[in-house]
Amino acid sequence: MLTGEMTLLHRVQTEVLEAVARGMELAEVGRILCREVEQSAPDVMCSILLVDDTGHLHSLAAPTLPAEFSAAIENLAIGPKVGSCGTAAWRREPVLVTDIATDPLWEDYRGLALSLGLRACWSTPIFGVDGSVIGTFAFYYDVSRGPTELERSFVDTSVHLCSLAIEHDRTLSHNRRLAFFDPLTDLPNRASFQEFLRRAIKLKKPFGLILLDIDNLKLVNDSIGHLAGDALIRAVGHRLAECGADISASRVGGDEFAILVDGCSDHDQLQGAADTILAHTMGMVAVDEQSVMAHVTLGGALYGVDGTDEETLAQNADFALYHAKQTHRGGYRGFRPDLRTAMVQRIEAVRQLDSAMAEGWVVPHYQPIVRLDNSAIVGLEALARITMPDGRIASAGEFHSGLSDPRIAYELTGHMLDQVARDIRVWLDAGLDFQHVGINVTTGDFQRGDLAERIGTIFARHDVPLRYIALEVNESVFMGGSDLSVPLAVEALRAQGILVALDDFGTGFASLTHLMSFPVDVIKIDRSFTERLGIDDKAGEVVVRAILDIARRLDMRVVAEGIETDGQLEVLTRFGCPMGQGFRFSRPVSVDETTKLLRQSAEDPSDSSRRSA
Ligand code: C2E
Ligand code: CA
Ligand code: CA
Repeated sequence: MLTGEMTLLHRVQTEVLEAVARGMELAEVGRILCREVEQSAPDVMCSILLVDDTGHLHSLAAPTLPAEFSAAIENLAIGPKVGSCGTAAWRREPVLVTDIATDPLWEDYRGLALSLGLRACWSTPIFGVDGSVIGTFAFYYDVSRGPTELERSFVDTSVHLCSLAIEHDRTLSHNRRLAFFDPLTDLPNRASFQEFLRRAIKLKKPFGLILLDIDNLKLVNDSIGHLAGDALIRAVGHRLAECGADISASRVGGDEFAILVDGCSDHDQLQGAADTILAHTMGMVAVDEQSVMAHVTLGGALYGVDGTDEETLAQNADFALYHAKQTHRGGYRGFRPDLRTAMVQRIEAVRQLDSAMAEGWVVPHYQPIVRLDNSAIVGLEALARITMPDGRIASAGEFHSGLSDPRIAYELTGHMLDQVARDIRVWLDAGLDFQHVGINVTTGDFQRGDLAERIGTIFARHDVPLRYIALEVNESVFMGGSDLSVPLAVEALRAQGILVALDDFGTGFASLTHLMSFPVDVIKIDRSFTERLGIDDKAGEVVVRAILDIARRLDMRVVAEGIETDGQLEVLTRFGCPMGQGFRFSRPVSVDETTKLLRQSAEDPSDSSRRSA
């Protein structure tokens, strides 16, 4: 190659690469390339076409070709006989047509070309990094001829530059897409959603915001695998996309979607949209040969009513979702101001428990469980208390909401188990015997699957046999999950000889069929039923009688909770309820007080007077 040619080529190359580096639009880069080449090779007309994924041609740049011709080529499918370019892309090799008038490849297109003075065309395919044809680079001539040597070297360089520029552009738009779309569902991502929300607020027109959470994603990921989890997310995403024109969803987190509902001006309308979303998203999802059920929970907030800025609106929808997950899984909850109060209280309770545990202020108090016929103490229930720096003792009821945080609940159980085991050791050493001490556990304790191991380790450390502990699991924890993990864990615990009591029985939705499939050792009748006894409330009596009857048949022990009056005690004794606890016998008391009560009971098991409140 001559030095002059090299300088020319070098100039073209520099110009084009600079244009790419400066972030110029691809079409503009294409025009610069054509212009530079045409200046150095004055007798040619350059044309750059793009080939899309479906094999169709699109004009990128052809500054000197008649516009009419470029328009005619637009969206032409490549093929074995589609002029020079369409054929070059099809064959994946350069196609040189020195005479358009006679070449069969131009049979279908030669009329227009000739009328515009185009006589010859030499086209070369442009390859992408993956080897596919992403475009063509062509020289048109107004005479019937082939390329010169100089033109050949221009084409080599140009094709290379085109490949670079097109690939660069594709990467850019791919990244741009990644920045605004979620690749798994093809829905807008969190960044886009925030922009949508900002725009919706600016318009000041009514709309609602619904947050959606896939309930069982973790379960599906853990039990079937991440591919199944991905399939579930994708299916929910696609179903959300089909909910209607006024419902637009974005994926804002792993299992969370944010949905804007246009034209919603009151909570009834928002509820209506939520119902539509629920109806669309629920249902089976096929994953390979298996199918899984999509379970979702929704919370919503209304623009104007529940907030007029992005942050408040999103936060309130989040409160509503949180509330729905606690109380209404598989359903929808709209925001109400009192949810905010409950949330703030919960956060405060978590904070309080956190620091109390760190300071060692959490201690168990104990409430005796007695035989109703003679008031002898047969067991205890350990209840968490915080001894405040000012000496005041905070009861569990005050910080109970904090226990919905799984980490806090898990840590609290650790503190309680350790101190309870230590106290039991002291009582046993003092010759004070009883059947067992109840410890309350909750959802957070079951999530890591190490409950039995923890109890085993801690009780072994204090040398206390496992038969002294009874785990109190409340009904909604036992049956409330979206799977059987808690009942199965309970079954495993019982198989290891740990007693399990079903707490707050009658308040939730524990059904008899559940109890038959997953038996427990003790049923604790909730205080709300005890309350209705001895005041001539026939319905209350019927329920309690029925529970006692069922428990007897299923061979489970029964404890009535919250006995406060002689009247309640009388009815329960008459119905044959064997055990109970409540202020009528003793409030929960400190470990020292408990030791005294146990000693008194050991000396005179049937003396109830001392234990009366
Ligand atoms: P729970 O398990 O149903 O505990 C019984 C609650 O009723 C206790 O409230 C107790 O003080 C109260 N109580 C007992 N007898 C009577 C009575 O005759 N009348 C009335 N009005 N109340 C009575 P507390 O200690 O405030 O505990 C509230 C809840 O907090 C417990 O309900 C339990 O679910 C939870 N909790 C307490 N300690 C722990 C713990 O260590 N871990 C966990 N996870 N939860 C705990
Ligand atoms: Ca309990
Ligand atoms: Ca209870």
